[in-house]
Amino acid sequence: MSTSRIEKRLSALQEKLTQESLDGIVISQPENRYYLSGFSGNSGLLLISRDRAAIFVDGRYWEQVSEESPQLELIRQNRTEAYATQLARVIPMLGRVVGFEANHITVAQQQDWLQAITGIDWQPTRDFVEALRIAKDADEIEKIQTAAHITDEAVQSALETMHPGLIESTLSWQLERWMREHGADEMAFQVSVASGANSAKPHAHGSARPLQPGDPVWIDLGAKKAHYCSDMTRAFTFGEPLMRYYQKVWEIVLQAQKKALAAIQPGIPAAEIDRIARDWIAQAGFGDAFNHALGHGVGLAIHEAPLISPRSTAVLQPGMVITIEPGIYLPGWGGIRIEDLLVVRENGSEVLSHAEKRLQWT
Ligand code: ZN
Ligand code: ZN
Repeated sequence: MSTSRIEKRLSALQEKLTQESLDGIVISQPENRYYLSGFSGNSGLLLISRDRAAIFVDGRYWEQVSEESPQLELIRQNRTEAYATQLARVIPMLGRVVGFEANHITVAQQQDWLQAITGIDWQPTRDFVEALRIAKDADEIEKIQTAAHITDEAVQSALETMHPGLIESTLSWQLERWMREHGADEMAFQVSVASGANSAKPHAHGSARPLQPGDPVWIDLGAKKAHYCSDMTRAFTFGEPLMRYYQKVWEIVLQAQKKALAAIQPGIPAAEIDRIARDWIAQAGFGDAFNHALGHGVGLAIHEAPLISPRSTAVLQPGMVITIEPGIYLPGWGGIRIEDLLVVRENGSEVLSHAEKRLQWT
């Protein structure tokens, strides 16, 4: 990652330390660590004070840190001394009032820290770095776009080779393999394929069920490219016959999505976007069948701020990358979810997922 980008992020964080009356903060959450340092290893603590930025990590990563995070001071964790003893030596360099990430540190870690490191006024923080990550810069949006493009093409290719008898989990693996062979570094999450009555479960994963003509089906997938995720769901009936009832429900979900998308602009509360889609579905008589949030932020993590739900306090702003994914799930029958990824722009929004929405695939 570019030096100027890291420096900009670190100064934003340091400014926030001053605003929140903290002398320093310990960052352990992996995506936050990467965001602030460019270090892609899966270990290590960032130790950031108002005027210092260091990374504390063991010997497996020293070379990697020097390549990926030259802006940060490397504090070497050694293998011969107890971890807690080393922390007791390095944490006080941050000052007296030190934040930690309450959403990420375990109770056991917290107890160890409290016991080993004296003279520190520990302050739990929530969403301290996540709040900085919420609006993406042009480079981040470009990476998400690349991941979204892989997802678009994967779903298109799979739909064209689908046939009766194809097992859900086989289709899920075909999609994963396709994405890996076409540039994805890894999956943003496990590919979900749900057919028939399985599709009534919003979080169903590919089972051993074979696709059958007339099935309701949805496919939810996302690629990860250069650390950034994409997320998309397409729903359709598979083969003949086309159920008229399916068509009716599918159109309600699609309309709910269109209405929410049309309302997106900077300054509008996320809860209001959720309400627009939810009211539409409720008016159509399916209020109880839409049993999850309308959407979520996407970035380094597949689910991040802002949440688009009735309880969300977020207000949309340019650069936020979010999903809009209304759904209707009817136990025993099946379900429909249509999900797109978009970026909030100054004058509205730009949809980043482009795979065709087709009522029926044969
Ligand atoms: Zn999804
Ligand atoms: Zn999603």
